[in-house]
Amino acid sequence: MIILKLGGSALTIKDADKPTIDDVNLERIAEEVSCYNQDMIIVHGAGSFGHIHAKEYAIGETITDDKDKSNKIKGMSLTQASVQLLNYKVISKLHEKNVPAIGMKPSSFIVNKNKRIDECDTNLIRQYLDDGFVPVLYGDAVLDKNDEIKYSILSGDQIITYLAKDLKADRVILSSDVDGIYTDNPKTNPDAKLIDIVTKDTLLTTTTNDNQADVTGGMAGKINELLELADYGIESQIINAQKEGNIKLAVSGKAVKGTIIK
Ligand code: ADP
Repeated sequence: MIILKLGGSALTIKDADKPTIDDVNLERIAEEVSCYNQDMIIVHGAGSFGHIHAKEYAIGETITDDKDKSNKIKGMSLTQASVQLLNYKVISKLHEKNVPAIGMKPSSFIVNKNKRIDECDTNLIRQYLDDGFVPVLYGDAVLDKNDEIKYSILSGDQIITYLAKDLKADRVILSSDVDGIYTDNPKTNPDAKLIDIVTKDTLLTTTTNDNQADVTGGMAGKINELLELADYGIESQIINAQKEGNIKLAVSGKAVKGTIIK
């Protein structure tokens, strides 16, 4: 079974001032995904469909008073609806390519505690998978058991780590809008070098996320999640979804330029 992450930065225009899909990328990515016809779970990021609302309503930050709570409730409902709309667009495109995708809304069965998954029943995902469906989950805004925040953002990257462990994935592939993990942000530092293999001993001093739009920790958050997965014995791979053919090669188990986290 493979878990494939489609990065929000590849599916959406991440720094747009309103939720905006990248139609050209989505069309091509869905076509590439359709080349794989064995057990697969897809998790996609929220990109501009999540970050704008989440940031505006400060989801995940301490609730200051009743007025702030009402405001955050409004923010939760807007964020959930927005990422669900992106999910609908993704699964509809996959249907056009004959992938039996079914959207599974994370906030309807996952509860966080201090911004980490605390409750998540994966039985239903397993059942759909066993029947030949392709479950498609996504970064969402969820309930949080910490009473001071009550709601938090659940990144697609955290969902991947959890599902890979719980459902014992054979391979985990993350696609983003860069080739992998670099010594520094390749978008701002032209001298940044791609790192082929990252382990917990790799010294990464400059991986903070410079993308101000991202509320889930960007590349730094990804590395932490994937190192945790590696500690558990599951290797993962980061590749660039912007480059034609990469996803098709990666899902088929062929070599692709990128970073392996082990
Ligand atoms: P996605 O939405 O695809 O899951 P993110 O936008 O959260 O991905 O994170 C990817 C972004 O992280 C890249 O576009 C890149 O600009 C930024 N980044 C920051 N530091 C690094 C680094 N050391 N290596 C690679 N990318 C980095």
